[in-house]
Amino acid sequence: MGVVSYLSARDEINEVFDANFKQIALLLDRQKNVMVDAGAGISNKKKLKGEEDFLIQFWSPDLKLSYSTHPLIPFVAPDKQGFQTRNFNGEEWRSYATSRNGMTVQVSQPQSARDAMIVEITLKMLLPVLLQFPILGLLTWLAVKRSLGALVLISGSLQKRSATSLQPLPSESIPEEITPLVMALNDLLSRLEEAAKLQRQFTADAAHELRTPLAAVQLQLQLLSRTKNEDERQEAIENLTQGVHRSIRLVEQLLAFARLESEAQPAARIDALKVCREVVKLLTGPAIQKNIDLGISRQEPAFLFTIPGNMQAVMTNIIENSLLYTPANGQIDVAMYTEDGRAVFEVSDNGPGIPPHERSRIFDRFYRVPGNMVQGTGLGLAIVKSILDKDGADITVTTGINGKGARFKVVYPPSPA
Ligand code: ADP
Repeated sequence: MGVVSYLSARDEINEVFDANFKQIALLLDRQKNVMVDAGAGISNKKKLKGEEDFLIQFWSPDLKLSYSTHPLIPFVAPDKQGFQTRNFNGEEWRSYATSRNGMTVQVSQPQSARDAMIVEITLKMLLPVLLQFPILGLLTWLAVKRSLGALVLISGSLQKRSATSLQPLPSESIPEEITPLVMALNDLLSRLEEAAKLQRQFTADAAHELRTPLAAVQLQLQLLSRTKNEDERQEAIENLTQGVHRSIRLVEQLLAFARLESEAQPAARIDALKVCREVVKLLTGPAIQKNIDLGISRQEPAFLFTIPGNMQAVMTNIIENSLLYTPANGQIDVAMYTEDGRAVFEVSDNGPGIPPHERSRIFDRFYRVPGNMVQGTGLGLAIVKSILDKDGADITVTTGINGKGARFKVVYPPSPA
């Protein structure tokens, strides 16, 4: 603002003074006889008195000074008509000259006289602006203090909290500007609270479940120490091995669960039919052992979007269950196809099946259908379910082959091309 004010004041003032010069010169040119005769306004000063004082000179046709308002200032004769800026005594001088009948009038003034006025006008224009700075500053300070005050309060109350206190922050009487922040924080806190609750529940369940197989291992060790002959010893060792094996499987599944909750891998487009064939091939060995007819009854190209490895885990868990629960000489049919742009994976068996009222509960952690004689942890389908939830896929259980057994059907969301 200062620069702009200065530049425009300078332009205006130069214009006004130049116009003044011209007017004075033209007026005097017409009336010079009167002025000279009267000897009016002669000054004995060596300098002009400021912006309102002018040096007026009359020059004869042979450029001899015939009259000057300030004879002690020996300013030079004009070398052309009109406006000029020249150096005189180390200073810039502005002058205007006009002639009539050979007589020349020259009106002059040092530029510094004008400059002083330009600076003065600039300062006067800037003053109101400068005066509003402290007022603006005060208002800004008050506004910022009010908004930050609430933030300081909030951060203070957050600092005092322990890592486990996840209650929402008070949202009343906070400035509008930070309401979205407080809302977002409260949302995060409530999700953290939910996650912490699940974690606690999981740890408790896991500890509870681990106790049973470990207690069994302890019991079998005692039995082993009391065996009387080689046969009993062999049997006890066999039982102990199975007990240890069960504990290891449980720990492995717990680990798989923990990893599922914490790992964030990038998802990719997966060739589902290829994965399906690989999984079935890997499980052919156990199927042959039980003389179960395991095969893919329907195989069509299907693609889906998920984290690599997730689909294997889902398929392996479901087919392994069928292998476990279907008695020897049974049948397991796997199907992989696309329906309405969605990849579908199905496993049907002719085992004992799952009673309709149990079908929703088998996906709960550690839940096993009562009366189940097969060794297990109840974690397999819970792992399957949480993977599918993340993928946005659906899983349903119905009746399997020929009105017997169980059928698990997984429907994935449409895969991006
Ligand atoms: P686990 O097999 O270790 O018990 P899961 O979570 O894999 O745990 O399965 C939960 C329950 O669902 C099992 O205990 C079993 O009762 C039932 N189930 C799962 N798959 C089948 C199946 N193919 N046929 C019959 N019952 C099954």
